[in-house]
Amino acid sequence: MKTSGSRREVACSFCAGTGRDPFDLLSDQSVCQVCHGRRKFSMIKPIMRCAFCRGSGIYPGQRITCTVCNGKGMVRVPKGTLVKCPVCKGVGTATDSGLPCLACKGKGMVAAKQEKTVRVNEKIKRSAGKGKR
Ligand SMILES: [Zn+2]
Ligand SMILES: [Zn+2]
Ligand SMILES: [Zn+2]
Repeated sequence: MKTSGSRREVACSFCAGTGRDPFDLLSDQSVCQVCHGRRKFSMIKPIMRCAFCRGSGIYPGQRITCTVCNGKGMVRVPKGTLVKCPVCKGVGTATDSGLPCLACKGKGMVAAKQEKTVRVNEKIKRSAGKGKR
């Protein structure tokens, strides 16, 4: 398999690898809606633990799948250097709404590139200050 090196088998977080619906929403025989009873997935790397649900696959405080990782507990992240999201400090949750952070989409990490934007903003602030004299 050519692509096997870039993929990783991940146990389904939503059902904790049982393949069954953790909340028995339809019946106690219902299969996990995330892995459809397969108990695991193959995901293309790079991936990391979903910050928003802390890898549980369950939307915090709800009986539904996490909307960030779709219940997998792991999310795909951009290749390259990642930095902690400056908005949510890496927790993936917007402090005011409790919804997934918009800046990192609930992943808690953003591509390092975005730091440039912050620096540019600082420059603008500085030059604006100079002009006030
Ligand atoms: Zn599952
Ligand atoms: Zn999640
Ligand atoms: Zn964030």
